[in-house]
Amino acid sequence: KKYGKPEPTIFSKIIDKTIPAVIIHEDEKCLAFRDVNPQAPVHFLVIPRIPIPRISEAHNDDAQLLGHLLIVAKNVAKKEGLDEGYRVVINDGKNGAQSVYHLHIHVLGGRQMKWPPG
Ligand code: 5GP
Repeated sequence: KKYGKPEPTIFSKIIDKTIPAVIIHEDEKCLAFRDVNPQAPVHFLVIPRIPIPRISEAHNDDAQLLGHLLIVAKNVAKKEGLDEGYRVVINDGKNGAQSVYHLHIHVLGGRQMKWPPG
């Protein structure tokens, strides 16, 4: 599969375990781990093993994988005890404030979120 900007990111190193992370879910398609700079009492990321740089570069045939990431996000949220709700975010590109160009779903919870996010 061809994606733009294929340079490995720090998340590739988390996937191949050359740098540490607190991994809270792992399967054949994805990983979930705690954000190193949490913006809520619970803040974890769900990432595919394949390095899709950003959501805007996903292909139609990534639909099943993207669905899997969301199902994992809600399963891990439940495991983390986020029964009062939580926020799911994907930042894309410059205006989306994306900093790591390996697709990731943020899940934030454990406090009251505000809307709009700004
Ligand atoms: P973005 O702004 O790209 O949507 O979010 C990237 C997220 O990755 C940020 O919340 C940042 O704190 C997190 N992050 C960046 N580098 C690392 C790292 O090495 N380990 C972990 N666990 N999280 C990271």
